[in-house]
Amino acid sequence: MAADLFIRNARPFGGPPVDLFIRDGRFVAANEVRSAIEIDATGHIALPGLVEAHTHLDKTLVGMDWFENRVGPTRNDRILADRKAKRELGIDARRQSARQIMQTLPHGVLHIRSHVDVDTEIGIANIEGVIKTREALRGLVDVQIVAFPQSGMLQREGTLELMDAALRAGADIVGGIDPATIERDPVRHLDAIFELADRHAKPVDIHLHEPGDLGAFCLELILERTRALSLQGRVMVSHAYCLGVLDSARQQALIEVLAAERVAVMTVGSPSAPALPLRLMRQSGVVVASGSDGIQGTWEPWGNGDMLERAKYLAQRNGMTNDSDLEETARVCTYGGAEGLGLDHYGFSEGCFGDLVLVPARTMAEVVALTPQKRTVIRRGCVLVRGGEPAGDLPAIE
Ligand SMILES: [Zn+2]
Repeated sequence: MAADLFIRNARPFGGPPVDLFIRDGRFVAANEVRSAIEIDATGHIALPGLVEAHTHLDKTLVGMDWFENRVGPTRNDRILADRKAKRELGIDARRQSARQIMQTLPHGVLHIRSHVDVDTEIGIANIEGVIKTREALRGLVDVQIVAFPQSGMLQREGTLELMDAALRAGADIVGGIDPATIERDPVRHLDAIFELADRHAKPVDIHLHEPGDLGAFCLELILERTRALSLQGRVMVSHAYCLGVLDSARQQALIEVLAAERVAVMTVGSPSAPALPLRLMRQSGVVVASGSDGIQGTWEPWGNGDMLERAKYLAQRNGMTNDSDLEETARVCTYGGAEGLGLDHYGFSEGCFGDLVLVPARTMAEVVALTPQKRTVIRRGCVLVRGGEPAGDLPAIE
């Protein structure tokens, strides 16, 4: 068990300086701490653990040879290249997921939701690999695993049974993908996914890249099923590009139902996709989370998994430059992600887990605009990273 911690002069979310106390891995009142290790935060900004709400831990090429990307421009080109790379490059899901987690830890990423491929070529091997990493690194980070039928489920016989096996093996969430353009049968795809979720009592997280009216139609089907199965607060739609291109009346109507059914939306702020109406969604009460999506993989070569950099991309994609907007994007990458992932005991209140990231910055806008490094990362009262360097014994990763 970690010693008690007394963190002096920290500024939660850029507010006035306070002292924070952690005992037995949770924030407590000052009078509950006895002989504590003292840390002087010197006025740095304290954030709760950053939340990576959407990535693909099993497919990153971090630490491997550079992948020369000759992949065509369509989503199907990328899916085919992805399957080929899995066969030919020897991407070990256990090793690669550990590498990505250790790369993002010094940034302060303490909660990760990862989609993990399930298909008829690899079966559930990637799920089993990421589960091993989750167990090995459970002292450092929380990992939620989405069983993800990247190559389609109805199109490839046997995938539905593999999804079931993935959930029985320990996947936490039922994934889905483009019910119309990939599956070509939105009702049957979504019925199958929601039936799995209902039977296993698991949440749902669906990749929805589909454009315009087609995307809106699929979103309506998702919302109907959320309501029918009382899954409010347990469904996330990833990307939801359609929301960025609909006429304003239909956009507003869908946003109101997303808020009412507490269906979260995950957006990465991609420069190559429509920008979502971030401000309107937040003001309307929609839970908005963000993620890196693939980091250094066959889909895209970039990404370092820093969720404060992601907040900056969100601001840039939405043309935001003023301080309060920048602070909002940081909220998306912390509290928004936590709500979307259904995390309990998140934040700085007494009783919450003693997790925080100290960032050397003067304001939240500076945190997002300049993404200062040399962060200090504390989880459950243990100092894991101090000033950007590993503190104590972090596990060695191959
Ligand atoms: Zn994705």
